[in-house]
Amino acid sequence: MSRYLPPEEGDPPLARRILDPEVIAELQALPSEVPVIEAIDVHREYAGNRVLRGVSFSIGRGEVKAILGPSGSGKSTLLRCLALLEPLDGGQVRIEGALVGAREAGSGRFEPLTESAVARQRLDVGMVFQRFNLFPHLTALGNVMIALTEVRGLSRDDARLIADTMLERVGLGHRRTFYPSELSGGQQQRVAIARALVMKPKVMLFDEPTSALDPELVGDVLRVMEELAREGMTMVVVTHEIGFARGVASRVLMMDDGQIIEDAPPDDFFDNPQQPRTRRFLEAVV
Ligand code: ADP
Ligand code: MG
Repeated sequence: MSRYLPPEEGDPPLARRILDPEVIAELQALPSEVPVIEAIDVHREYAGNRVLRGVSFSIGRGEVKAILGPSGSGKSTLLRCLALLEPLDGGQVRIEGALVGAREAGSGRFEPLTESAVARQRLDVGMVFQRFNLFPHLTALGNVMIALTEVRGLSRDDARLIADTMLERVGLGHRRTFYPSELSGGQQQRVAIARALVMKPKVMLFDEPTSALDPELVGDVLRVMEELAREGMTMVVVTHEIGFARGVASRVLMMDDGQIIEDAPPDDFFDNPQQPRTRRFLEAVV
């Protein structure tokens, strides 16, 4: 059925659909002429170490972009900037055309937004980290429910219903009462994806979601991501999974030393990379 690996032993097959039809309709209704998310000449440095050196990047509705690049090239920092988890030292991030973190105050001036306004903007961006970042003291269900009750203000009953449905759809209904320490890495990562999805983000960012997993646990996570892409989710995926990048991404980007140095459709990127640095990288990882 899928290009990837067989399902984890004992896990039921994934649902044929992950997103609600209304959510799919909302995603389809996003304007196609404005990027869902956009970085414009973004700079970021840590104590003089220039980690992002003018990154510009945009992704349209329903697009899937894969980002490759060596360790330390700034991939995670870029995703954290896009997810509004890091301040910028220069440049802008825009979501659906609207500046994030700041307000245009006329005549080229900007005013910082309040923390609660930024928190609202952050809800549009779902993020899945390399290390699953689940709360160890909460069950799978509790991890998916918590932002619904604490951030969205839903009742526990409503939150439970939504979280239950999403866990079922990522193939984990039978694990809802398990704690993270009782789940495999692949299962934990699917809980993390479910947790992000119930917030109804407009774009999902994945930071090497499978690179901490044993090889046999990678398949179900990639399958969930592939299904999300098929359903029209806009996605940015930092990954070393060449098969996924080739098969699912609409464009593949190469990051090196804080910059995007190549940006091409998958076949061009992998079969005919323009930059010697990209060629060397691909020779080392493929
Ligand atoms: P990648 O994800 O491509 O491996 P990162 O974005 O994690 O790269 O890191 C890029 C560079 O920024 C590295 O040199 C890293 O050490 C540095 N860096 C990342 N986060 C921090 C931080 N919070 N404080 C200081 N340096 C950081
Ligand atoms: Mg990283």
